[in-house]
Amino acid sequence: MTDPAPSGAPGSPASSTSRATARVERSDDDWRARLSDEEFRIARGGGTERAFTGRYWNHHEPGRYLCVCCGTPLFASGQKYDSGSGWPSWWQPIDDARLARRRDASHGMVRTEVQCAACDAHLGHVFDDGPAPSGLRYCINSASLRFEPEAGPRR
Ligand SMILES: [Zn+2]
Repeated sequence: MTDPAPSGAPGSPASSTSRATARVERSDDDWRARLSDEEFRIARGGGTERAFTGRYWNHHEPGRYLCVCCGTPLFASGQKYDSGSGWPSWWQPIDDARLARRRDASHGMVRTEVQCAACDAHLGHVFDDGPAPSGLRYCINSASLRFEPEAGPRR
């Protein structure tokens, strides 16, 4: 048994001072062990589920949608809407600071990819053809999300 080192030692580097979310970093092997094949392919590999096949595109219960990887609450049922795209869509996230945006020029298009700011999970894309008041459409893969019912058990 060793005594714990005294806490409060000065000089610990504060590299990220005012982030809204703490960073979550794991190896690919670790993520693979925690996710289904489909979740891993999409959330860690930047894949896309086929339209109208995901678990949440036609899902209307009240609650929150958490990052499937790290559990950060990203979207809520109150801002979810039916875009007709076949992917779950929101006009606004719970907190803008929980999302990271990245230019995506793949597939011959220039789009804005949306990632989880905490763990860099690929979520989907944001487009500017959404409804009022934001005019935005967050087009997100179901496989990158895990639904938490409003009255459900807290973890
Ligand atoms: Zn995450």
